[in-house]
Amino acid sequence: ITRRILGSAGCTACKLGVGLIQEVVASYKSEEEIRIQIERLCIYLGIEDERVCEGLSHEFKDEVLTVFDKLVLGPKEVCSILITDCGDPYNPLDDWNITLPETPKPPITPIKPPKPGSPVKRILQLSDIHLDVLYKPGSNAVCNEPLCCRPDDGQPGKGVPGAGKWGDYRNCDTPIWTLNNLFEHLQQISHQFDIVYWTGDLPAHNIWNQTRQDQVDILKRLHDLFVKYFPDKTIYSALGNHESSPVNSFPPPFITGNRSISWLYDALAEDWSTWLPNTTISTIKRGAFYEVSPFRGFRIVSINTNFCNNRNWWLLLNATDPAGQLQWLINILQQAENNQEKVHIIGHIPPGIKDCLRAWSWNYYKIVNRYESTIVAQFFGHTHNDHFEVFYDENDLKRPLNIAYISPSVTPYSDLNPGFRIYTVDGNYNGSSWAVLDHETYLLNLTSTNMYNTPKWTLEYSAKKAYGMNALNPADWDILITKMSTNNTLLNTFYRYYFKSRPDGSCDETCKKKVLCALRSGRSHDER
Ligand SMILES: [Zn+2]
Ligand SMILES: [Zn+2]
Repeated sequence: ITRRILGSAGCTACKLGVGLIQEVVASYKSEEEIRIQIERLCIYLGIEDERVCEGLSHEFKDEVLTVFDKLVLGPKEVCSILITDCGDPYNPLDDWNITLPETPKPPITPIKPPKPGSPVKRILQLSDIHLDVLYKPGSNAVCNEPLCCRPDDGQPGKGVPGAGKWGDYRNCDTPIWTLNNLFEHLQQISHQFDIVYWTGDLPAHNIWNQTRQDQVDILKRLHDLFVKYFPDKTIYSALGNHESSPVNSFPPPFITGNRSISWLYDALAEDWSTWLPNTTISTIKRGAFYEVSPFRGFRIVSINTNFCNNRNWWLLLNATDPAGQLQWLINILQQAENNQEKVHIIGHIPPGIKDCLRAWSWNYYKIVNRYESTIVAQFFGHTHNDHFEVFYDENDLKRPLNIAYISPSVTPYSDLNPGFRIYTVDGNYNGSSWAVLDHETYLLNLTSTNMYNTPKWTLEYSAKKAYGMNALNPADWDILITKMSTNNTLLNTFYRYYFKSRPDGSCDETCKKKVLCALRSGRSHDER
């Protein structure tokens, strides 16, 4: 996640800023002059401090120049896309529809629980590692920049504790020794999982000074770590929004040449090929998405959610199904349906949150509706919190039909404990449903770990037991939400896990409404 970068600047500041940038870009000044204007604007609007603004202006110069040069939208439209709650003017770029095949939707059959004693597979999900190779214990953890706890953040203020050894609750990412410790722990329990879903956001939050080479290096470094610790496991990756340079910058295929994203997608194709067949290479190079069938009757589809990322400014030029990904997804799902296969979708940005552009999100929702019997579950990250989104029948919003799990982050960024999750799914045998039967979430309590200097990864909770659920089908999650609306104990249990057992008070009425509404929103910008 990137909490700032225009996010905090507010609606008015955004419109002002966009208007000014448009003027500057149109004035045919030199690239360096334009960059300086961007830097000044960043400082003037109080987006970040001078050091960060200077870095950001270098990082974003190319993107801003290209996008604003070709942009046909005005400040009002741009800011309604970039900023949450900044008006809702009609935006022609946000108005497009995917085409579903004419094959009629098969009748819905109720999900049957597996026979007792049926085999299960276990899936480890790691999300949002945000590795900081420069993390420095004892350094300043309150630096008023997007990332602290690093050597150039100076000394902590008087009476303010410095960065903890194993990580910190303030704006700090994952130290390498904490990550190594996690991998050592996972290696010890590697008999407890069969495959891995790794759902993106690898680099730290130092978004103002990350080069393309830095990003490729982090990708390789983490890839090598997986190979070292889990030589026998297959890792299925999805792309995060932090993997690019600059952050959130994922030009669709219509941008070619040096400003294209091939530097990253080629590296992904190379690194991911350790675990994926050659059949995945062409779509990874085109748009960082792929599908693969690890077991008979079962497919994993990895999607690139940066094509719905509202901070991916390239989409201001054309947001219509970038790289043809959703149309491709429909093809894959139709094939799977024809073959009576089951599908897990993995991705990074959950489709129901405001970071996901409305048109993409609503089209995706339509696809999930059409293929509800084929898609068994979805797995995302990005928010760093522990939650989920229930998808409903578009024509009968009371009928739950799908579930997206949003797994907690490895990074403590920010004010969280590091965590990971293991799912138990029905499989692998002839006719297995691949439904999630239960999941367990583990965490590292940073307070005690830093206090006693002994990292211990412990079970936080298992879903069925903690929430008193019979099964983990979409209907069961829907029932849980309904229960939470009247049962405050249950609500506060969920709320505690949402923040990975960091005390954050209890959830009052306003909070409750917000939380429960979000759990029912698999479609973004859909308040009712
Ligand atoms: Zn993240
Ligand atoms: Zn993210």
